[in-house]
Amino acid sequence: MAAKLKIGILGATGAVGQRFVQLLEGHPWFEVAALYASERSAGRPYGEVVDWRVPVTRPTYLDDMVIRHMEPDGAAELVFSALPKGPATDIEPRFAGAGATVVSNASAYRMAPDVPLLIPEVNPEHTALIPHQRRQRGWDGCIVTNPNCSVVGLVVALKPIHDAFGLLSVQVATMQAKSGAGYPGPPPEVIGDNVLPFIGGEEDKLETEPAKLLGTLVDAEIRPAEITVSAQCHRVDVLDGHLEAVSVALETKPSPAEVGRVLREFRGLPQEAGLPSAPAEVIMVSVEEDRPQPRLDRDAGEGMTVTVGRLRTCPVLDFKFVVLSHNTIRGAAGAALLNAELLCHQGYLSRS
Ligand code: NAP
Repeated sequence: MAAKLKIGILGATGAVGQRFVQLLEGHPWFEVAALYASERSAGRPYGEVVDWRVPVTRPTYLDDMVIRHMEPDGAAELVFSALPKGPATDIEPRFAGAGATVVSNASAYRMAPDVPLLIPEVNPEHTALIPHQRRQRGWDGCIVTNPNCSVVGLVVALKPIHDAFGLLSVQVATMQAKSGAGYPGPPPEVIGDNVLPFIGGEEDKLETEPAKLLGTLVDAEIRPAEITVSAQCHRVDVLDGHLEAVSVALETKPSPAEVGRVLREFRGLPQEAGLPSAPAEVIMVSVEEDRPQPRLDRDAGEGMTVTVGRLRTCPVLDFKFVVLSHNTIRGAAGAALLNAELLCHQGYLSRS
């Protein structure tokens, strides 16, 4: 049996970092060898520093591991980044330059032309940018990224619709969970009994990332899909799970039954290859008229299955539906884990 790959977590104490700690316990391919956080936390044991907020019992297997200073120290060949955009901009290239494969949640490099922005069920072939990135930047390592947490659920649903019916444009209104704002997030007196109709930078991500994800790899370049997206983003008083109301204009005009069929049948490379974090069901289609709901459906497929419901024709565009995905699992730590498993499967990382 191949040895486990030693991995590190950059930003291990935050909302997404804690999800990595949860999801990596007992992972068949990866073993946590190093934890990194800010100077506030470095030098102290993880169990003493972490303010555990994930709604599952805190795993204790890393309690005694001392948090490292955020410097590339060769402790891990693969590092997951759960850093905010600002620190990620400087820190991720330093780790990649020192030879690490950086699998990032941060937005800093998502739209860089030589950096793969990946959802393994949607565009696994975009990893072919990696050798080009290494040549261009003179790195032994590399950076690959997963999309914004709202973009993942949206694009998983859009991919089979695009392939079957030709996507032209998208209107999306999001209702995003509090955990999407990191820790400590909006205080109860701000978010309680309330909806916040602004999330800084979010609408721009929803309007730009889908075209890259659905784009075509030509030589060492991604040609963006020719789609237009209009997004309105809202923060709501929900713990986990981003809900999105979506309308699409299409080249052909399918019935709800036809859309339901292509969504249900959607499978990708992770399912075919049996990657450890791949959900058996990529998309669960709800038949109840009042689903999906964050509290009831966010944990489908251990947080990796995207739930779509309320399939119906739209009197303004052509078709509309509601999509739900778990923002810190499918939208963040689980997404990055699946990206790293894809890199192993494709030979960009070796476990031997
Ligand atoms: P968070 O809860 O604020 O955690 C940030 C982490 O980064 C903490 O471990 C913190 O360490 C560390 N850190 C902060 N500033 C640092 C600095 N200057 N130098 C070194 N370490 C520093 O953030 P989050 O919600 O987990 O988000 C992390 C990243 O994932 C962000 O880029 C975010 O956009 C992205 N993301 C988040 C979600 C989500 O649903 N939350 C989804 C998708 C993507 P200390 O604890 O020591 O301060």
